[in-house]
Amino acid sequence: MGWWSAYFLAKLILYGMGYLDFHPWLNLAFAVFAALPPRNARQQLTKNLLAVPMGVVLLYHDSWLPPFVQAAAQLQNLRALSPEYLWELAGRLISWKLLLELAAMLALYSLVSRKLRMSTFAFLGIIGVMVAPHVKVWPGASPAQAAAAPSQVALATAPINLSPDALNTRLQQFYAAQRKIRVRFPRGAAEDAPFDILILHVCSLAWDDLRALRLAPDPLLGHFDVVLTHFNSAASYSGPAAIRLLRGTCGQTPESQLYDPADEGCFVMDGLQGAGFEPHWLMNHDGHFGNFFGDVHDRGGLSAPLEDNTGATPAQQAFDGTPVYSDYSVLSRWWARRQTNPAPRLALYYNTISLHDGNHVLGAGHPDSSYGARFMLLSSDISRFLEELRASGRHVIVVLIAEHGAALDGGRGQIQGLREIPTEAIARVPVALALVNAVRPAQVAQEKVDAPLSYPAVSELLSRLIGSSPFDKPVTSLDTYSNALPQADFVAENNGTTVVQVGTQYMMRSPDGAWSSLK
Ligand SMILES: [Zn+2]
Repeated sequence: MGWWSAYFLAKLILYGMGYLDFHPWLNLAFAVFAALPPRNARQQLTKNLLAVPMGVVLLYHDSWLPPFVQAAAQLQNLRALSPEYLWELAGRLISWKLLLELAAMLALYSLVSRKLRMSTFAFLGIIGVMVAPHVKVWPGASPAQAAAAPSQVALATAPINLSPDALNTRLQQFYAAQRKIRVRFPRGAAEDAPFDILILHVCSLAWDDLRALRLAPDPLLGHFDVVLTHFNSAASYSGPAAIRLLRGTCGQTPESQLYDPADEGCFVMDGLQGAGFEPHWLMNHDGHFGNFFGDVHDRGGLSAPLEDNTGATPAQQAFDGTPVYSDYSVLSRWWARRQTNPAPRLALYYNTISLHDGNHVLGAGHPDSSYGARFMLLSSDISRFLEELRASGRHVIVVLIAEHGAALDGGRGQIQGLREIPTEAIARVPVALALVNAVRPAQVAQEKVDAPLSYPAVSELLSRLIGSSPFDKPVTSLDTYSNALPQADFVAENNGTTVVQVGTQYMMRSPDGAWSSLK
């Protein structure tokens, strides 16, 4: 087998460390081919000519990189990225530590291989990967379990079925239950004090990003009355996140249906318009990347014209070289226009990419473009805008909701900053709600809702606030609004990859339909 044993042993070690997947049958077949003894030099050459491309393809298949067809489709988007950002991504793809480790392994291999037949170890390793899932380990019952009532024991130790069939069924049941969800917005009573609803959709912000950089959420979320701590964005890219939010009066749909016409009554902005709110649309970018404009307008059903933002102050240069305008500048200019608009109730969808990976802050010298610096900038812009809303004296409900995380921690199978696999670290995002100019007693604490929620919960919250205006009476507790919101299990999708929470585990279904566990 020669140096091919080094190929298999290196892959087995990388698999053990969690850097690679390992398809045992394909690898076994390839190992048998690699072990065939050539009869002459010609056969040797032919074998190597075949084996090298096969080895490369198999390595790609075993890697966590997106399937080749999908990667090729992404090239279209890659062309739009600025060269600086591409270089930055390439640097992250190559881990110098990993390269050094591989070099050390090869050196060790060449030493040991003189004494031992390494191909035997390669075959043993591959067979070990095949056999491992079938070895049953019987854990002894803990004293606590032994003392518990029989029914509790059954619950606590009932094995969760993680077979592909059981997981597929679980997913089907999830979507079947979600299909029944419909939230309706009532019309506020004529005598109610009117208010506006401002939805601020923030790209690239997850709880995990704040944790990874040890950023306190307070500079941003401290200004809000309610924070949802376990919200699932169900997506890891901007387009699907926007469609899901804008279709959030209905339950979660499979990603493949996001691009089909929406079911009746699923469009949030249509629903709000029916409840008397004039729809508006604003962004701090032009929305051309990844056809975000089309996702909001066509798939998300937001028919209001996109407002011109080009008079605002540019604050950053985006990852694709286009301008990103200052959030405060864009929002406050819009608010000035709103105050001259006679409509009593108005609903705004605002989208910001100020936190997106690869953006550069504009300014003299060497401005700080780090995520942390841009998070502080966004926080101060939003708090300044909230102050301005307060000063206007108008009643406003502001909903801040993140699209998906920035994947700052990378994690298994992902390049830092790229988001192919919609993990919990990417899809668990902050959502917060502020009641601007509501009468609230001094020193009332921010309310935290820890239940697992998704978009219908936000629609339900808005529906309750419209049905019983919080601006007509002093609001001491928001419990009546935030209690018993519709809950949902964690299911997130991106480009055909699905991540499902099962108990305390996260299971991933690849685009080819195979299930694996995310550690
Ligand atoms: Zn985004």
